[in-house]
Formats: sequence, C-alpha cells, structure tokens
Amino acid sequence: MSELKDLEYWRGRARALPIPAHAYIDGQWTSAADGATFDCINPATGEQLARVAACGAADVDRAVAAARRAFEAGVWSAMPRRERKAVLLRLAALIETHREELALLETLDMGKPIGDTMLYDIPEAARTYAWYAEAIDKVYDEIAPTDAGVLATITREPLGVVAAVVPWNYPLLMASWKVAPALAAGNSVVLKPAEQSPLTAIRLAALAEEAGVPPGVFNVVPGLGAEAGQALGRHPDVDCLAFTGSTATGKRFMEYSGQSNLKRVWLECGGKSPHIVFDDCPDLDRAALAAAIGIFNNQGEICIAGSRLYVQRGIYDTFMAKLEAHAAAMQPGDPLDPRSAMGAIVDGRQFDRVMSYVEAGQREGARLRAGGQAARADSGGWFVQPTIFECPTQSLSIVKEEIFGPVLAVTVFDTEAEAVAMANDSAYGLGAGLWTSDLSRAHRVSRRLRSGLVWVNCYMDGDITVPFGGVKQSGFGRDKSLHALEKYQDLKTTWIRLE
Ligand code: NAD
Repeated sequence: MSELKDLEYWRGRARALPIPAHAYIDGQWTSAADGATFDCINPATGEQLARVAACGAADVDRAVAAARRAFEAGVWSAMPRRERKAVLLRLAALIETHREELALLETLDMGKPIGDTMLYDIPEAARTYAWYAEAIDKVYDEIAPTDAGVLATITREPLGVVAAVVPWNYPLLMASWKVAPALAAGNSVVLKPAEQSPLTAIRLAALAEEAGVPPGVFNVVPGLGAEAGQALGRHPDVDCLAFTGSTATGKRFMEYSGQSNLKRVWLECGGKSPHIVFDDCPDLDRAALAAAIGIFNNQGEICIAGSRLYVQRGIYDTFMAKLEAHAAAMQPGDPLDPRSAMGAIVDGRQFDRVMSYVEAGQREGARLRAGGQAARADSGGWFVQPTIFECPTQSLSIVKEEIFGPVLAVTVFDTEAEAVAMANDSAYGLGAGLWTSDLSRAHRVSRRLRSGLVWVNCYMDGDITVPFGGVKQSGFGRDKSLHALEKYQDLKTTWIRLE
C-alpha cells in the first residue's frame, strides 16, 4: 500500500474516528457556558459529524482571562527560549505522529482530498511549529549606535494575549501560520477556528497540552463568527488580533479595534490573483498544468487561486486546448479517495455562491468553455465541476469578484503593457504569476505587478522561509518567515546613561 493508502482504508478509519467537539479553555475541555452547539457537517455527504461547542462572549471572556493570567504568571512568556523551543518541537513531532488522524479530520470536516491533507496541509503545519521553534533561540536583539556615554538597547517583547481568527479553507495550516510564531514569541493565544471547520484546531489543543504547553497559554474557542469572532475583536484585553478571511470581515476587525482598545490588527484577506502566460513561455505544458492546479486545487477555495488567467494571443488556442484537457482530468471525486484531484465545496452556502457566479458569467456574456455544472449530486454533498470561462471584457463580475470556487476567467491579450494593466486592475493584490523566457521581462513585469507574492515560471510555490500576504484590499502584515514574528512582538527602547 502506498503512503496514501486507498479509499477503503480511509472509509474504515473514518467510521472509527473520534470527533473532538469541545472548547479548550485554561487547560480544560469545556462546553459553551450556555450549552449552545452548532452542527459540524461533512460537505461530501451532508451528514453531521458532531455538534461542536458554540462559544459566545462569556466563553471568550474566560479564555482571554486565562490567557492573560498565564501571560502575567510567566509560565510561557518567561520560560527560557530553549525550553519553549523544546515544547514546540514536541508539538511539531506530535502533529507528524498524528498525521493520518489530522488529515482525516480535515478532509471530513472541510471536503478537501485526503491526498492534499496528507501531503500538504498536515506536514506543512508540523513544519511551521518546528521552524518557529528553531528560530526563537537564534534571533538577537539590538544595541543602538549612540554616543559613548549611553547604552541604548532595542529589545523585542511578546505582546500579551494574541487572538487568531481563521478561515475554513486550510483550517490547521492557516491557524498554525499565526499560532506558531505567536507562541514562539512568548504570547498567550486564543484561537477561533471557522465554524465550517473547527475540528483540527480542537485536536491541536490536545496535542499542545501533550507537548507541554501550560494551561491558559493556548485556548481554542470554536463558535460562530459574528459572535465569538466579534467578542474577540472587541475584547478590551486582547492585544493583537491576527485574522485570515474575507476582506469584508477584515474591515470589521479594524472597526472592532477602533471601537475597543486599539488592539493591533493583522489582516490576510481575499484575492483575485492574475496569472499571465506570455507567448515566450518556456514550457506550455507546465504552464497549463500550473494554471489548472492554480484554480482547481482545493476546489478553487484558495486565497491565492490564479482565478484570472491572461494568455497572449499567439499561443492562445494551443494553450487553451492543454488547459481544457487538465480541467477534464480534474473532476471532483470522493475526498476520501487518494486519487481524487478535487473534493467537495465546503458547504451549501458556498456552493450556492459559486453556482451563482457561474450563472452570472453566462448572463453577462462570458463564454463557457468547460464545466459549469454541479457534480456527484447523489452523494448528498456539494461538488462543482472545474469551470472555465472566456471573458471578452474585464468588467464581468467573474473577473472582478473573488468567487472562492473552481471557476476560471480567461482573457486574451496582445501586449505586455496591456497584460500588466489588466492584472493590476483589481481591488486585491495577493498573488500573481507570469511565464516568460525573457529574464528582463520577468523582472520588469514582477516589479510592476501590485501584489505581495509573484511567481515566475511557476505558480503558488513557496515554503515557510518566505513571507506570505498581500497589498491593497488583500490586507497587510505577513504570515510565515521571520517577519511574521514581528507581528507578535513589541520593540522596547531602553536608554541607559553611563556614568
Ligand atoms: P470569513 O471572513 O467569512 O471568515 C473568516 C473567519 O472570521 C471565520 O473564523 C469566521 O467565523 C469569522 N467571522 C466571520 N464573520 C465575522 C464577523 N462579523 N465578526 C468576527 N468574525 C467573523 O472568511 P471565510 O469564508 O472563512 O474564508 C474565505 C476567505 O478567506 C476568502 O476571502 C479568502 O481569500 C480568505 N483567505 C485569505 C488568505 C490569505 O492569506 N490572504 C488565506 C486563506 C483564506
């Protein structure tokens, strides 16, 4: 059997899988104070997986108070870095040890293929903890170049209580990109997972406890966004709110901050990323595959999805034929089947949203070249075919708005200037890709693209060593790399006059 096993194996494991459903506050497993729950649904079947604690303001208060107490007590914030590092390395190792269980929870909860969760989501989450663990005893503070009679130090201090509010598309990984650097820097953390996919965050709390994270330092409050998320956003004792999710919700967190204690807010929001293929593309086959993966992987539910594809006229027909062949081969399947390239859309609401854009595309004059239909209707779940539209203008809603589904808007272009202008014609600025054999063009175009990430002759590549985030309405602040540590630390100047 391969590392990924087969459908029967995963079905068997799924039947016996314990589903975690409680909140984790101050080292205790707990229900919501008022006993409220919400249904956690498997989007591939429509079946209920669990009823999860729906934390409200009272639970958020308890979690924040516990986090504050732990921070002030110094059980984590003042722990020697070597020891903090050892705990986080143990957590990374435990995630690896429980890879199959976590991958299965993620797949059942969110609908993404087990091959993706096994090979990407879970191992990347483990690497994130290991990387920040390894970093924290290697970053030094500073001494300012003052006059001789003075010693001025610039030291980094943890902020205190960090709240992380995260989305459902990469539940464990998005959480880990915030939790790992925040904990590594010595903060206490309250994590609120998305209501569509709370399970791996809850399981993470158990693994953190087993790794030796002290009570109160890491808390998980599953709950509905508007209630638990807002309670964290407005909380007077939260020092920092790190958010990944839609631009509309990100804007609310800035309001919550202004209305409460001016907590710092870091936003990783939506995207509508352009992917440009010039006619001097070094490898059309690779580019076509990257374009297909760039929009159909994870059912298109990726903030950096290359949802706007621009193809130069000279290669247009050849390229489109290759792209359509890849789309045809990436039809959705059972997420528990390691051979499935695409799984289920996360829930009925998101499915309706995606289908309404497919309808809008046709109504507004785009030409449907592939897909456009629901799939696997007899499964009880929500599946959409990989869908490709040819778009005559940039003004269509499928070109302008983030769909967050497997729907690609393709536009032909003639000149480099035209491609750059169309690529930058967006409220978002998260990712962008370009394919060319011309080194000067690669540099020239990358510089002109207004986005936080640019890929040349590849798409969506990267690892934990580089920053991740956007410009314009895609947000600000960066996840990943040493730069992410800066979000969870304050600088302190100490000016010492020497006698
Ligand atoms: P969302 O904004 O609906 O929800 C994100 C989180 O905010 C969830 O935990 C949710 O419960 C909470 N929330 C929702 N409404 C709230 C409110 N009124 N007050 C407080 N909290 C609230 O986003 P989503 O649908 O879960 O995720 C999809 C979005 O996330 C897309 O726009 C996608 O581009 C974006 N995303 C961005 C990145 C990035 O790194 N830039 C990565 C992944 C996803």
